[in-house]
Amino acid sequence: MELWDAIIVGAGPAGCSAAYDLAAAGRRVLLLDRVLFPRPKACAGGLTRKSLLALRYSVAPVTRRTISAILVEKRPGIAATLSSRTAVCAMTVRQELDDYCLKQTIAVGAQFVRIGPIAAIRESSREVELRTDGRILRSQFLVAADGIHSRVRQLLCGDAPLWLRRGFALEAQVRDAGDSKLTFNLAAVRQGYAWIFPEGDHLNVGLYSESPAEKLNRERLDAWIRARFGQVSVGLTTGQYLGFGAEDAPPPHRRIFLAGDAGGFADPLTGEGIYGALASGQAAAAAIDTELRTGTPADTVFAERTAALRRDLRLSAAGARWFYGNLDAGFRALTAPLLRSAAINAYANGTKIAALANAVRRFTGVFSTGA
Ligand SMILES: Cc1cc2nc3c(=O)[nH]c(=O)nc-3n(C[C@H](O)[C@H](O)[C@H](O)COP(=O)(O)OP(=O)(O)OC[C@H]3O[C@@H](n4cnc5c(N)ncnc54)[C@H](O)[C@@H]3O)c2cc1C
Repeated sequence: MELWDAIIVGAGPAGCSAAYDLAAAGRRVLLLDRVLFPRPKACAGGLTRKSLLALRYSVAPVTRRTISAILVEKRPGIAATLSSRTAVCAMTVRQELDDYCLKQTIAVGAQFVRIGPIAAIRESSREVELRTDGRILRSQFLVAADGIHSRVRQLLCGDAPLWLRRGFALEAQVRDAGDSKLTFNLAAVRQGYAWIFPEGDHLNVGLYSESPAEKLNRERLDAWIRARFGQVSVGLTTGQYLGFGAEDAPPPHRRIFLAGDAGGFADPLTGEGIYGALASGQAAAAAIDTELRTGTPADTVFAERTAALRRDLRLSAAGARWFYGNLDAGFRALTAPLLRSAAINAYANGTKIAALANAVRRFTGVFSTGA
């Protein structure tokens, strides 16, 4: 039986980013998914600047628009535009983006296979075995990048590990009158927002909440779309959970790493998950490659490589609790002349979130990170 260097389960952003780096480093990589691509995925497809920088290749061929200004609405008549001199965000259609990324990953040498249900995972001191379709696949390491309902995580940690938290978002498409800005509306949802993302030939419109207590459903989104645009959505309305809580996850397994939504790497403040998926997938790849090259244990390297990301997610979770719970002060802070530029750049770059949080704390005098 073949022994792969790494098996990656799930070919979304987390899985492709891990598989790409390992294959580019000359490792023997088997990338598995339960469906063939292109496949639908509920997602608005917004890639912030930090995601674009994290990707190993340009996604210009699947970019519908680039955005450099964001409209934030608190309630009717109270809104502010945050703008940046350079692009903040690229708008893509997730189905197109994921298909493109998978093709790049296969081109660099990863082998892609569609599989049926995963029956079992066994980790020993030397390797990992994955049972599917009546056979056993063997590898030195395994990356679980199989999304919020991760089967690998379920087999390792049970149905609902305490550290994993979930948000929810659902989306629909609306015809674009041609003048819409990228918009976050804070009045439509508790502990979250409604969004409008211009995608070129249509608008991607949706509702997001980081709180499981906020009930979001198709009727609510339809009502918001009717009130806002005076029209009904076109095509399917789809929703999915997002995975939070990586900052509270226990230390990684010796040979199995959870990445992306499977590992709780989405950001509860912004609802952004692609960056955390890319960064955690790349951290898993770096950890595996380091052990294969130098013998330094991959679990130690994975913990080190995700430390800054997990610190930012802890800050973001505290920021979400405060911001959505104190919308008046939060909106004032976000749109204060001195903070606007920091706010939009923190959204785009991510790396300045700590600095922004400190600035907000100084501005309002009440912000507590809980970190
Ligand atoms: C409505 C909505 C809008 C969003 N908008 C944005 C946005 O604009 N920007 C942003 O950054 N984030 C957004 N997010 C979050 C983002 O979509 C996710 O965080 C991101 O897709 C996580 O990537 P992933 O690779 O971890 O998982 P996924 O993208 O879910 O990929 C998981 C892959 O694993 C495969 N898989 C699942 N189970 C198995 C199995 N048993 N065996 C084999 N394969 C399996 C799936 O088929 C899938 O291909 C949005 C989420 C939602 C729900």
